Order: sequence, then C-alpha cells, then structure tokens
Amino acid sequence: MKTEQQEVFEPPAEIIDDAWVKDWRATEAAAAADPQAYWEARAGELEWSKPWDKVLDESGAPFYKWFTGARTNIVTNAVDRHLRTARRNKLALIWVGEDTSKVRTFSYFALNREVERWANILLAMGVEKGDIVTIYLPRIPEIVFAMLACAKIGAVHSVIFAGYSSEALNARIDDSESKLVITADGSWVNGKVFPLKDIVDAAVKFSPSVENVVVVRNTGTDVTMDTVRDHWFDDLAKLPIAKGHCETAQLDSEDPLFILYTSGSTGKPKAILHTHGGYQVGTYTTLKYSFDIKESDRWWCTADPGWITGHSYLVYGPLLNGATVFMAEGSPTYPYPDVFWQLVEYYGITALYTAPTAIRTLMRFGDAWVNRHDLSSLRLLGSVGEPINPEAWRWFHHVVGKDRCPIIDTWWQTETGMFQITTVPTMPQKPGSAGRPVFGQEAAIYDESGHEVPDGTEGFLVLKNPWPAMMRTLYKDPDRYVETYWEKYPGVYLTGDAAKRDEDGYIWVIGRTDDVIKVSGHRLGTAEVESALASHPAVAEAAAIGLPHEVKGNAIHCAVILNTGYEPSKELEESLRQHVAETLSPIAKPDGFDFPEKLPKTRSGKIMRRVLRARALGQDEGDLSTLENG
Ligand code: ATP
Ligand code: MG
Repeated sequence: MKTEQQEVFEPPAEIIDDAWVKDWRATEAAAAADPQAYWEARAGELEWSKPWDKVLDESGAPFYKWFTGARTNIVTNAVDRHLRTARRNKLALIWVGEDTSKVRTFSYFALNREVERWANILLAMGVEKGDIVTIYLPRIPEIVFAMLACAKIGAVHSVIFAGYSSEALNARIDDSESKLVITADGSWVNGKVFPLKDIVDAAVKFSPSVENVVVVRNTGTDVTMDTVRDHWFDDLAKLPIAKGHCETAQLDSEDPLFILYTSGSTGKPKAILHTHGGYQVGTYTTLKYSFDIKESDRWWCTADPGWITGHSYLVYGPLLNGATVFMAEGSPTYPYPDVFWQLVEYYGITALYTAPTAIRTLMRFGDAWVNRHDLSSLRLLGSVGEPINPEAWRWFHHVVGKDRCPIIDTWWQTETGMFQITTVPTMPQKPGSAGRPVFGQEAAIYDESGHEVPDGTEGFLVLKNPWPAMMRTLYKDPDRYVETYWEKYPGVYLTGDAAKRDEDGYIWVIGRTDDVIKVSGHRLGTAEVESALASHPAVAEAAAIGLPHEVKGNAIHCAVILNTGYEPSKELEESLRQHVAETLSPIAKPDGFDFPEKLPKTRSGKIMRRVLRARALGQDEGDLSTLENG
C-alpha cells in the first residue's frame, strides 16, 4: 500500500488518562466475544419502563428486532431522566443564529418545558401514535423541540432538510401521507431569507393528506396563511391546550421513531425507518464510548438535523448522554470564513464534529483565519459524510487541533443509524482511514462471490453483525430493503461502499461500489484518485469519474476546483497528471480535466459523481431532488 497510508498519529497521553475506554483492545475483544452481552450491558445504562425479553430476535431476519418486549421511549432517556438529577439545571442546548448576536439557551428543565408545549399542541391537533409528521424547519431550536415532541407522544417524524424544493418536499410528504407539516416563515441563508412557507404552500397544494400546517415565526417574513389549514405556533402556544405536563408515552421497543430519506448520492433517495429501543442504545453508546463524550463537554455537531448525522449526533445521541449541545444556524463561511473558529472560542467548544466538505472549504481560505482565534478548548475533532482526504485530515489536525486533538473519522450511513467504523480517541489514527469496526461489530471486505479478500485488496465492504440502531426496513418497500442490503450475501449487510483493510485491521473506504473506476483491468477508488489530486498545491477539491474508453475500458476524468491564485492551463493539467502518477500510480493518471466553478453536491455536501458522469455522457441525470448546485 502507499507509504502515505502508513502515517500514524498516536493519541496524546492526557486523552488516554481521561477516556471512557482506556484499553480499546480489551473492550473490542470482550464485545467481539459476545456482542449481545455488550449491547445488553449498554442498554442497561438507560431506563426502560419494562425490561426486554430478548436482546436480539433474529427469527425474521433480515428484519431484525432488538430488545423485544421492552417498553421505553427515547425521550424518557434523552430528557425526562435528566430532570430527576442535577442535570435539570445544566444547559441542554446553546443555539446561535446566523446573526451570531442572536443567542438562545435552554437548560434540560427548559428543554422539557418546550417539548411538552409542542407535544400538547400535537396531541390537541389530533396527532396519534404512529402518525407521520413532516418537519421542514431550519437549524433553529424548534426543530429539536418538534422532533422530541413527536417521539414523546409516539408519532413518527419525517424531517426534510429545509432547503429542498417544493417538488422534492411534495414527493416526500405524499410518500409518507403526513397529515401535519411543521415549518417556519423563512430561514436565514447567507443574510437572505429563504421562503420556507412559500415552498410548503406550493408543496402541500398537491398533497391531499395534509390537514394542518404549523408555522414557526423565525425571519418575520410576510407569508400567506390559509385560515383553516395554517396556524402560527405562537398563537397555538398561548392556548390552554398547550399548557401543563405531557406524559411521555411508553412504547414498544420496536415502535417506529422516524423515517428519513438518504442523501441520494447514488440514486433515488430511500426512506429509512428507525425505532425507539435499539436506536437509543446505539446512538447513546457510540457517542459515549467511541467519541468519548463526557458530562463536561460542549458538543458541536455542525450537521443539519435534516440528515442522519443531525438526528443521531446533534439531537438524540448527545441528549441521551446529558451533554450540552451547541447548534449554529449559519454556514461555515458566512459572514466570514472564521465564524466556526469564533464560535469555538467564544463558547468554549470541546468537541467539533463536521464534514470533509466543510474542512476543505475552510482550508481553502488559509490558516490565518483559524490562527486569529484561541482554540485551546477543543479536545476532540470528528469527521463524517465522505472519505476525508489525508491532506484535509492533516490540516484539520495541525491547524485546527494544534496536533493535540484526535480526529474521530466516523463511517456510517442513514441506514446504520450509528457509527460503524471509527477510531476511538485512544486508538492510533491514520489519516484517510475511518478506523476499525465499532465495539460489537465485525466488518469484512468481500469479493464478488462472497469470499474475504486478502488485506490490501479492494472489495465490497460488509457488516457481519446486526446492531441495535440498524434500520428496520425501507418504509413501504420491504422488498427493496432485502434486495439492496441483504441479497448479495445472505446474512451479511451490504454497505454499497468499496474499501480495503490494512494489516492492522483498519478500513479504508475508497468510494461507492457504483463509482469504482476500472482502468485496464485495475480497479481504482474515487477517493484514492481524489486524495492524490487534493495533495497537489493547486487543488482545493476534486471529483473523479470513469468514462468509457476503447482501449482501457475506462478513462479517468476529473473535475477540479483550484485554489485561489491558480488558473487552468495545459501545463497545470500535465503537472496534475504527473502528481497522480507519482503519489498513487501511473495507471491512475487522469485522461481529461474540467475546471468548473463548483462540483455537483447533495444538499448534505457530498459529491454526486453520477451527475458528472451523466453530464459527460449526455445522459439523463436521474433523480436530482437532492442536488444543491450545478
Ligand atoms: P444514497 O444512499 O441515497 O446514495 P448517501 O449514501 O450519500 O445517499 P448517507 O446515508 O447520508 O446517504 O451517506 C452514507 C454514505 O456516506 C456511506 O455509504 C459512505 O459512502 C459515505 N460516508 C459517510 N461517512 C464516511 C466516512 N467517514 N468515510 C468515508 N465515507 C463516508
Ligand atoms: Mg447510501
């Protein structure tokens, strides 16, 4: 393997001294010996109103069930139980607006008051257990309240990222047959109002199921209110029905908690279904024992609640751990590219969890923006969403983390609900590798016919053990669930990603299986080619695709975003080619280059290579509902 992959960062001693899991080898071995016992012990750290009969019921596999027979509610553990301890006075949520002078804070006591208010209103509007409520809200505290309120009464939330078009919103509302949509008048996006309510109006016009729309006043924008269908939240909150205590419904462990659509990087988004019991155990455990979250942490996950990362690690995971959640409305570069660092400094953030797309964007602006801030409060950094190229990893580690904060690179999916492959802070880290399977999980790399490939060989990444926060099915499409994830290798979960394992058991995700480029009989991962390009001084970000080639089978074509100060030229293209040949392999030399203004990305910030490919081939671009820009 490349020498670059041998680069190893050892965890600092003070991190090990203080960690939940000091000896990760011992924990890993114990969990591997009996995964169900491991999960049962973790579940025992939470409250259940009736204990489970069985930890894992495999009788209907691949429709696995966890903690069967138990009664619980994720809100009991994320909110209610904290109210009986000193945590009731602790900050649960610190929220900062895009205009950073706007700040709202909520103790656990105050969070509960808000959630009860929302839950009372939902009940009064006739929302019943099992009903799907669509939430189309920006990154404001109300999205957290609304999600928790749904969960509290046993309703199922379907959060749609508040940037989707009316068509995309309409399709998702219709699919879920929601009777209620929760939205806001507008949201702030780089100083301008994005008209959420107008988009909802256009979407629900064609959605026969929608009976009510609740509107949060956020931007103060003028909107049209339908006298029967639409209600200001402010007005509802003043009514007697909104007041008073609201009991948290005790549900079956397997009752649905939410549906959530995947990012759509590789095709039509899939509606993933998660449940109360297993999901709470999985998100609670992984944030605590893999990310090493403590009582004293101020945790900032920059993801939007509209994505799984926001669900699991902005809302549920940290609240289940009684941590303090920091939430920012704005983007990483508005109004200036140091807004992240300003917030870290001012609010004393201790753990920052973000995405490679944000890291690469901020890196492009140079170190000076970071260096003007005191980031000494940080102790942990995290990355999720795409493979992080070693160049960006090193920058994050050195410039942001001052070489003392471990980077927790977490590989997981909407489907998995929780981390699956990650380093824990006490493990050595290798830039570009997500790390090892989480405690209780076993990952493998298979060839086409289901045999494990030798270390260092690329193949299909699979997960061998069921885990508590696994999706239960694709909503309304159980056949597609079986077909997509369980049919290729029966009994084993197919992730859809291509990866290698090295001799230390670390997993290197090299791209989507659909995106792997086959050149002259060699298989190259998009991440490998893109990382090689990104280590060239001229390159900020790159996307690699394979296009048909008469001789080689496929030729590599790259779309490259240049750093400021560089211009496209034939010489530069040749220099990039040489650089890839030297740092990766002569086989990986790109044939063609494009230098667009932007790369096509999902709204969650992932490169959509299928769109680049379709454009280059003049083909239909497929489902573009999640495309952010062109
Ligand atoms: P769709 O399934 O609709 O194509 P998507 O796969 O992008 O969309 P998500 O569930 O949001 O939807 O993303 C999961 C995928 O993101 C993983 O399968 C993997 O390809 C990528 N990914 C997430 N985290 C990492 C990581 N730390 N390293 C490498 N890849 C990652
Ligand atoms: Mg996927």
